[in-house]
Amino acid sequence: MSRQEPQQLPVTRLTGIGSQSAARLQKLGIQTLQDLLFHLPQRYQDRTRTYPIASLTPGMTALVCGRVEYIDTPQRGRNSVICRISDASGLLSLRFFHFSIQQIQQLRPGTQLSCFGEIRMGFNGLEMVHPEYRTLHAGDEPTETGLTPVYPLTEGLTQSTLRKAIKQALELCLSNTDTLTDWLPAAVRQQYGYPDLAEALLTLHSPPPTLSAERLAQGELPALKRLAFEEFLAHHLALLLGKQHYKTWQAPVFIGDISTKTRFLAELPFQLTGAQQRVISEIEADCSTPHPMLRLVQGDVGSGKTLVAAIAALSALSSGFQVALMAPTELLAEQHFRNFKRWFAHTDTQVLYLSGQIKGKVRSTTLEALADGSAGLVIGTHALFQDSVNFQNLGLVIIDEQHRFGVQQRLALRAKGQNADRVPHQLVMTATPIPRTLAMLQYSDLDISVIDELPPGRKPVTTSVIPSERRAEVIARIDHWVAQKRQVYWVCTLIDESEQLQCEAAENTAVYLQQALPGVHIGLVHGRMKASDKDAVMQAFKQGDCDLLVATTVIEVGVDVPNAGLMIIENPERLGLSQLHQLRGRVGRGSLASYCLLLYQSPLSETGKQRLGILRESNDGFVIAEKDLELRGPGEVIGNRQTGQIQFKIADLSRDRELLDRVQTAAQLICRQHPETIKPLVQRWTGGSLQDLDELFHTVYSP
Ligand code: ADP
Ligand code: MG
Repeated sequence: MSRQEPQQLPVTRLTGIGSQSAARLQKLGIQTLQDLLFHLPQRYQDRTRTYPIASLTPGMTALVCGRVEYIDTPQRGRNSVICRISDASGLLSLRFFHFSIQQIQQLRPGTQLSCFGEIRMGFNGLEMVHPEYRTLHAGDEPTETGLTPVYPLTEGLTQSTLRKAIKQALELCLSNTDTLTDWLPAAVRQQYGYPDLAEALLTLHSPPPTLSAERLAQGELPALKRLAFEEFLAHHLALLLGKQHYKTWQAPVFIGDISTKTRFLAELPFQLTGAQQRVISEIEADCSTPHPMLRLVQGDVGSGKTLVAAIAALSALSSGFQVALMAPTELLAEQHFRNFKRWFAHTDTQVLYLSGQIKGKVRSTTLEALADGSAGLVIGTHALFQDSVNFQNLGLVIIDEQHRFGVQQRLALRAKGQNADRVPHQLVMTATPIPRTLAMLQYSDLDISVIDELPPGRKPVTTSVIPSERRAEVIARIDHWVAQKRQVYWVCTLIDESEQLQCEAAENTAVYLQQALPGVHIGLVHGRMKASDKDAVMQAFKQGDCDLLVATTVIEVGVDVPNAGLMIIENPERLGLSQLHQLRGRVGRGSLASYCLLLYQSPLSETGKQRLGILRESNDGFVIAEKDLELRGPGEVIGNRQTGQIQFKIADLSRDRELLDRVQTAAQLICRQHPETIKPLVQRWTGGSLQDLDELFHTVYSP
């Protein structure tokens, strides 16, 4: 590929695109001719038919044909020209604010015009402001064949500049000699009835006369589907490539000391479940090779992921390597810290804690202990991966509740290790909010283990859906529950409002509940409290000094207090189902029956009822995630929680969802039979720099 392919040429090669337009195009992510070709119309103008004036309504954009009746030249005090045209059915005003003398002369009464523009209601009936117009002579066709594309713009860029540029780009890149390469194997195209790349792009940029605007707007054309499919495929391949690349790096080998592990397990008050054991052996197998593990452990809330992480950590530590465990919230990180300190108490491992709130002397001694290797295990928030944090011998990185971090963060973390001659193993854990169909765009860079079994003796949580009018009943139930020495969570949700409002709501609720329940010890925890205060409240709750914990959604992940078996969630209709399932996972952790009351604000919409109904019927995180996907669509499910979500150019997770099922098969075929197409596909769609990709590709596919 010594010669630059036409599609890689900069847009400035086109007539009419100077440095100024190029800068504007850059704002739309367009630098090359290829980028330009993948900038698809957002809709099409239909000039294939004319509308009788009588059929026009405000808001329509239409082509109209008529005879100029009169023109109202500008007078003092008025700054617009009005021209009235008529057809057999009625009269329409054309209004111009900018005009030239020639223009006025051209619009003489009797002239036939075709005008295109948006109809609005003016002072004297319907009008078109600044229509595009043409004068017609005898025999002229008012209509055009084909639909006119309307492209997404950015400030300073006009439709006509963009249309002209794209037209040139099509000619340059799709001519017979220099064709934009179609990287999708013919077998895949044929299987799904997709057109080739050139045809697909031509269809979408300059639709043939046989296509209607309606058909194009439906988003179901094979031309469009093909591009969306290719885009999904490219993202999937990018993750696979990243994984294969990472696997070529060197990683420490954990030799695993059996006696340490046996002693550790003997100290536990319970036995590992079969699923935990299986996942642990998968992790051990990964870490006994000199290449890095990239493993995702999926397991429903309460399935015991933390312990799996602890045993993986033990294996690293007993092999002489450091371990970092990252949790998404301070609350969860603190809880892990406490658990790990207890679990590792009879080993010689020093366990440390680090978050953004740890400052001053404590922070500097912590950083020193990590840098000189005297601390084996550190637990914390994302503050763990700031530049100032250095490890002596990091062998394993554990990320808990991965769904809170997103793909980009995970990849960024991985990149951080890549300057060393050895990189740490990676273990990420999640409670599966992402349904299987979407996993390939989220997790294809990871090997997956599933903990598909809960510890024995767990009773499913009984969930009820209750309108807030019955609050008094709910409060009576709390009273009764606390009298039996059991504990309660009350969760306040205000997800769309500011964190401050959410915290205030929790504060108010705590005051209100204290009045209603004078004999009950109430604690309050929310995101705006100091870490040490939060921690004190959580400890009091854990030790049973506090009966009722009023909280915001900060307790969503990880918090583990088995004696708390009743949870009230206020305004559950505001949250996603997977998030509710996570919250509910705080109860049902002991061996006694547990309950979750969803206290909704009535009236509740039909979908709202359906959604809460799903939660009442199921305790299975997989089922709930799938149903949530059906009801809300994938964009919401991923978008709601993923900060580093993938930005698609053309594909739309809701519209093109059915394509996801095809992606994996096609990717397999490509990896087996056409590996040379992986790099250009990934480059085309993910915009990765060619150099990075070259390097990635080289390490993976060179012998
Ligand atoms: P999650 O998978 O949601 O992170 P946790 O790791 O917090 O779950 O575990 C939930 C609870 O189950 C904890 O109290 C933990 O100590 C307990 N647990 C973990 N493994 C077992 C087991 N094999 N038998 C009994 N209890 C267990
Ligand atoms: Mg957990």
